Amino acid sequence: MSTHTITFLGGVESVTGSRFLLETDNFKLLVEAGMFQGLKELRLKNWEPFPINPAEINAIIITHAHLDHSGYLPRLVRDGFNGKIYLTQDTAKLVEIVLRDSARIQMEDAKYAEKKGYSKHEKPEALYNLEDANKTITKFAPIKFHEQVEIAPSISATFHRSGHILGSSVVEVLLDGKRIVFSGDLGRSQHPLLNPPDPMVSGAVDAVIMESTYGDRKHEDTQFLLEQTINKCVQRNGSILIPAFAVDRTEVILMILKRLVKENKIPNLPIFVDSPMALASLNIYKMAMQNGSTDIKQELLDSVKFDDPFNPGNLKGAETVEESKALNDPSKSCIIISASGMGSGGRVVHHLENMLPHSEHAVILIGYQAEGTRGRALVEGVKSVKMHGKQVSVFAEIVQIQGLSVHADADEVCEWLGTNKTAPTHTFIVHGEPASSAAMAEKINSQLGWNTVVPKLNQKFYL
Ligand SMILES: [Zn+2]
Repeated sequence: MSTHTITFLGGVESVTGSRFLLETDNFKLLVEAGMFQGLKELRLKNWEPFPINPAEINAIIITHAHLDHSGYLPRLVRDGFNGKIYLTQDTAKLVEIVLRDSARIQMEDAKYAEKKGYSKHEKPEALYNLEDANKTITKFAPIKFHEQVEIAPSISATFHRSGHILGSSVVEVLLDGKRIVFSGDLGRSQHPLLNPPDPMVSGAVDAVIMESTYGDRKHEDTQFLLEQTINKCVQRNGSILIPAFAVDRTEVILMILKRLVKENKIPNLPIFVDSPMALASLNIYKMAMQNGSTDIKQELLDSVKFDDPFNPGNLKGAETVEESKALNDPSKSCIIISASGMGSGGRVVHHLENMLPHSEHAVILIGYQAEGTRGRALVEGVKSVKMHGKQVSVFAEIVQIQGLSVHADADEVCEWLGTNKTAPTHTFIVHGEPASSAAMAEKINSQLGWNTVVPKLNQKFYL
């Protein structure tokens, strides 16, 4: 009889580096190929040899476009992966942008480190380059939501909507009769743009792999905090910097700012989106709306014909580096939205470097801030942060707004899972920092009566 196993190669004890390997006697299916981010010991894992030869992986499934789920793909391709990559149609469009941008950042960082001589490597190397990213894109097999795709005889996958970002999915895998559900990142019903997640699959399930980013938290409605922070900052003639994940967070924040402007709750300030990737992803969201994607709420599909939902009135994009740098001396108050969301790379780093030393400015952190990132350090109240090899003092106001999260909290996860009344054989809790995963495991166990396991890195289980 054939054996079926799952090995947790990443995305455990951390929110980054999701990589789950399903194996039968003659097939290796990797679900997610995420980049490790944040703490140095995590980032270094991107450089370790992959635990199995990438050439031996038969196929890959990606749940959604975020870097911590898709960012390692080009490295696998560079190291010999030559199968198909299954993902939804909008995820394919977004991953294409994300990987090209990531390749560019990897190459720039390597070059910068070499020039400034602060890398410990003799000749800093990029994890992958643009060519690797482009080669990866040719392996995409875009799939429609709710359509079962055969990956190999007796192995198939169905993508259900997860409502986290455009194209994001919960993936149901059938592996020789075993039914395995990957939650990916589970969204929330409050998303201003996307429809709520599809219900959890019904009936018997052999294993659920459940994310737990906010396993120990409950979201509060904190829009008021955003409004208040912006108004206070404008009164002292400061500008507001919002580091935001280019994909989805930028769209969500623009929609909220638009509503606040419309309701006269904040002034109609110039708003700059300073991230080529965010601008590109904005176009993909607009395209999805024009094409009537099932991901998008009906009322927005109706209104998009006569109103740009992402423009609060005074929106400008900074495409070039010159335009970006010009923003560093804002003579009058403005809002700058720039990636990355955790301040770990991209153009936002230059803005942080310029704005943090001045008390009139405000930095609003809206997404999850992983351990080891500048964003996390700022939230924890550090007096200075290291950037480009030097210490930068922090005098700007730092505000974290968690209620704008696109991850379900612990109650929402339980509610979603609980729509399936049959306890799965295995419930694995992943994608969370240790305390968060432990709290989620405990809650699912006590509330639904399901046995839960928090896997450790590289742990393998028989299904
Ligand atoms: Zn995500």
